[in-house]
Amino acid sequence: MKALVYKGPRDVQITGVPDPKIEKPTDVLVKITSTKICGADLHMYEGRTDVEEGKVLGHENLGQVVEVGKAVTRIQAGDWVCLPFNISCGFCKNCERGLTGFCLTMNPGNAGAAYGYAGMGPYDGGQAEFLRVPYGDFNCLKLPDDAEEKENDYVMLSDIFPTGWHATELAGLRPGESIVIFGCGPVGLMAAHSAMIKGASKVIIVDRHPDRLALARKIGAIAVDDSKGSAVEEILDMTGGEGADRGCECVGYQCHDPAGHEIPNMTMNALVEAVRPTGGIGVVGVFVEEDPKSKDKLAQEGKLAFGFGPFFEKGLHMGTGQCNVKAYNRYLRNLIHTGRANPAWIISHELSLDEAPDAYKHFDSREKGWTKVILHPHQSRPRNRSHSAGARKGHPEAAHAE
Ligand SMILES: [Zn+2]
Ligand SMILES: [Zn+2]
Repeated sequence: MKALVYKGPRDVQITGVPDPKIEKPTDVLVKITSTKICGADLHMYEGRTDVEEGKVLGHENLGQVVEVGKAVTRIQAGDWVCLPFNISCGFCKNCERGLTGFCLTMNPGNAGAAYGYAGMGPYDGGQAEFLRVPYGDFNCLKLPDDAEEKENDYVMLSDIFPTGWHATELAGLRPGESIVIFGCGPVGLMAAHSAMIKGASKVIIVDRHPDRLALARKIGAIAVDDSKGSAVEEILDMTGGEGADRGCECVGYQCHDPAGHEIPNMTMNALVEAVRPTGGIGVVGVFVEEDPKSKDKLAQEGKLAFGFGPFFEKGLHMGTGQCNVKAYNRYLRNLIHTGRANPAWIISHELSLDEAPDAYKHFDSREKGWTKVILHPHQSRPRNRSHSAGARKGHPEAAHAE
């Protein structure tokens, strides 16, 4: 089959690889009809991880089941399913508590496994024609009869919609509270979407890309452009000098100033300043154990100069870590099914698999308009190729906001 393979820094290629097959009786084989390029893939693309050459990338996958192993009982060939990016067993100490992002079985010696990702186990990704799903009964989220019609919404359940939701959960957001989100990439936008659904009174989002900030405004978020001045001051001004009730980190370890210089502790310390005393911070942007290629000495060892004094003084709390997708995806699926959520509004491009290497280039350079790319591996020329901002499907809250 055809797949997108990592060859080296800024070098990904479409090549032929062996077809995946049922290896264990609990496996399921899925024909991938939609798979996305994630901001987290760019850490690998840029050579800032130790991902091995030859790995098939892609952890945001949806498709139709083509074959099931002998021990699979719930899932059948023909089912439309969305796969959490976490691969989990369902029976370990962490999975039992819903912490499937930290499964102890699937990546021995580590907590957590994923498709096509550095350090997350030997699993190939879904930027390919087919994907092997271990423990299919546990890992497949079945989709309702509008699966094809709302495919672009449902594929968001693999990662970024639950991850954005998770950021607001870790921060402890309650209805009526204000929240500030650093990072207006796909995850930040999904955190804003989640905060709106959860009834936040004020959703503030910080970034410096005008096209992304415009998307955030579309759903009624307040956009702060940090290339124009201090984001923290603006947030304090908007919240009577107090700070927002909750804050989310949706940027990660490669955060940088508007001029492009990486400053690894920038968003974390800004959050401590921008969140009110006794508030909460949720961190879902990727941070790594070590980053040998960073120019920052501390960051090379995975450390940050963090304002722990102010953090303590303000009595803040913080939750961190990758999303346990299975804790939310069933419920977020229902919100999509009933029309209460439509995360596909952030998609900018629908492309074929052959176009993926080029798409990585555009997305990596944060080119204007390249917000979120979906690949359709079984289409040579997908229907809606470029979703210009104006042509994007309306968001339920968008009409309200404008
Ligand atoms: Zn992702
Ligand atoms: Zn487990």
